Amino acid sequence: MKLSELKGIGKKTEQLFAKAGVNTVEELFYYYPRYYDVFEAPVTVRNLECDRTQAIEGKVVRELTVKRIRNLQVIHGYLRDDEGAAVRATWFNAAYLKTKLQIGKRFVFRGFVKESMGSFSLQQPKIYSLTEYQEKMGEMQPVYPLVAGLTNNVVCKTIKQLFSIMEPKESIPLSVREKYRLIPIKTAIKNIHYPTAKEELETAKKRLVFEEFFHFIFALRNLKEDSREMKNAHILLEPEEVRTLISKLPYKLTKAQCRTWEEIKTDIASDKTMNRLVQGDVGSGKTIIAIFAVLTAALNGEQGALMAPTEVLTRQHYDTICQLIENNQIEEVVPVILTGSMTVKEKREAYTLIESGTANIIIGTHALIQEKVNYKNLALVVTDEQHRFGVRQREAIWGKGKNPHVMVMSATPIPRTLAIIMYGDLDISVIDELPSDRLPIANCVVGTEYRPKAYGFMEKQIAQGRQVYVICPTVEYSEAVEGENVIEYAQKLQHIMPVSVRIAYLHGRMKPSEKNQIMNQFAEGKIDILVSTTVVEVGVNVPNATVMMVENAERFGLAQLHQLRGRVGRGAHQSYCIFINGSGKKEATDRLDILCKSNDGFYIAGEDLRLRGPGDFFGVKQSGDFEFKLGDIMNDVMTLKEAAEAVDKIAAGELKLTAIERKMLTQKSMENINL
Ligand code: ADP
Ligand code: MG
Repeated sequence: MKLSELKGIGKKTEQLFAKAGVNTVEELFYYYPRYYDVFEAPVTVRNLECDRTQAIEGKVVRELTVKRIRNLQVIHGYLRDDEGAAVRATWFNAAYLKTKLQIGKRFVFRGFVKESMGSFSLQQPKIYSLTEYQEKMGEMQPVYPLVAGLTNNVVCKTIKQLFSIMEPKESIPLSVREKYRLIPIKTAIKNIHYPTAKEELETAKKRLVFEEFFHFIFALRNLKEDSREMKNAHILLEPEEVRTLISKLPYKLTKAQCRTWEEIKTDIASDKTMNRLVQGDVGSGKTIIAIFAVLTAALNGEQGALMAPTEVLTRQHYDTICQLIENNQIEEVVPVILTGSMTVKEKREAYTLIESGTANIIIGTHALIQEKVNYKNLALVVTDEQHRFGVRQREAIWGKGKNPHVMVMSATPIPRTLAIIMYGDLDISVIDELPSDRLPIANCVVGTEYRPKAYGFMEKQIAQGRQVYVICPTVEYSEAVEGENVIEYAQKLQHIMPVSVRIAYLHGRMKPSEKNQIMNQFAEGKIDILVSTTVVEVGVNVPNATVMMVENAERFGLAQLHQLRGRVGRGAHQSYCIFINGSGKKEATDRLDILCKSNDGFYIAGEDLRLRGPGDFFGVKQSGDFEFKLGDIMNDVMTLKEAAEAVDKIAAGELKLTAIERKMLTQKSMENINL
């Protein structure tokens, strides 16, 4: 059912929802809140904490002052609590306040607490009568992820309406629900949107996380049924050219890289089809191994494909390969690139080259698996940062050849036991060693007051020819989300930095061609500071970038920050990472300090989990890149294990399914899963 069929939802709102990823009414059930706004008991002025929303009970003690700044009306007031302490409040464009807020009358003021020049103020506090606030206290109001133009209020109302006209469909078989004590979907969805107590939220979340894992693993297992023990249809032997290439590289492969390459070579020359996961921390040098693999396919007279999750990364892989081929004068290898942003004509040309077999190394995004692409003889497929691909997409690429060898590469630091649950009987290689020429990154965790110093430092590095990343959590200003945003930050920096410093920004909502352009310019050294969201997280390689500054670092999972930091420290220059704790809270600093203590992704993720404890709701995700909505393979490892066990038990016939349930599961794993 379309959203516009709901009452009060027009085309425009429908489009906004589509932008937020909701295309049908049914999907709306699964549009989970980001967090819940809890109306806590009012505190005294003395107990206010900065950078959070709080309420105080008090009265206005003097006449409000009204100022005009351009077309903005700014109203200031002083609020005094029972202890006699006062705090300033600021409102914008709210003339009605002058009559509403009589001096001396008591209200509850609830707003965001900000600190400036040593004193706190309440930003735009909402005003409640004492009884009004009493009623709201303890309530958990859902706060949804939003896109510009879509308000929380509209989302709340739409979801309310939804519940009045339909129910979510059950998608976990009864036998599984009973064995693992999962509540029905109806209750779970209801409670995730409108919890009345924390316990309710917990059982709802557990059920929904289980569901995500269960369907994911079910789909994976189904896929593997087909590929298991497949006879090797493409015996590939290491060509002379690859051996020469290895000896001519400007660096020596690490032991771990050598071992991994040996394992791959053994696989592809054996009598079974390769199905291997190559795991290696950021910067461990996975790309070159992938290149050996596709070169080997090509030089054996067949085709090798390399698929990457973003255009930027794809382009980069393509350039790397072209350069290697050229520098080493490897003949008979013709690489071609295929991405969504290419023109129709360019694509058509690429299709022809691929179909005729003229191109024997194919590098691309999802475009590689589109229907129109036909391969002459696809022997090997590498997917980089593969967890970003859906199960269906992986299946599609397998369908593009006759049992091609598959190698998936991932930097997500998941422990081996978890990897086995996620990938079942995939063979695993681990590149557990960084190239020896790397200087360890120098890290620091600091407060926002450190910024001027950091900017000065960046300026110096730029003067020496280096480049800088600044990471912000959001794209643009939004009332709903606190924290620095890329667009305003880039402007702000431009004012602070000398005019000669070239600054650009990058975020996920830009057009692919724009993103490519910016990323290329950065790679070519034509941009000094790149202000970006986490889109730079995956894979890009600009060894000349030596400084990364992360704003609102407290908002990210440590594992993710570790991935991000992997963008620097990729060359011979000393690199630096500055994590700004925008919350000012000590817990956040303590957590972030773990990043200074270790450079080991596994260790970091484990510590983060231990510190925060499993009860941290909608807390920071460890491995956001697995694209589960709620579930997190690290935080919810127990649930993950149970879901894997359930799938095993179904396969073994220990958990029974009705015919309808079986059909529903199969269908769901084919169509519905787009993880
Ligand atoms: P990741 O594992 O994160 O994908 P990359 O493959 O992008 O890492 O490698 C990061 C950088 O390290 C690249 O510039 C690459 O050329 C370089 N590199 C790879 N292997 C080695 C090595 N053995 N010694 C030195 N540098 C290496
Ligand atoms: Mg990589």
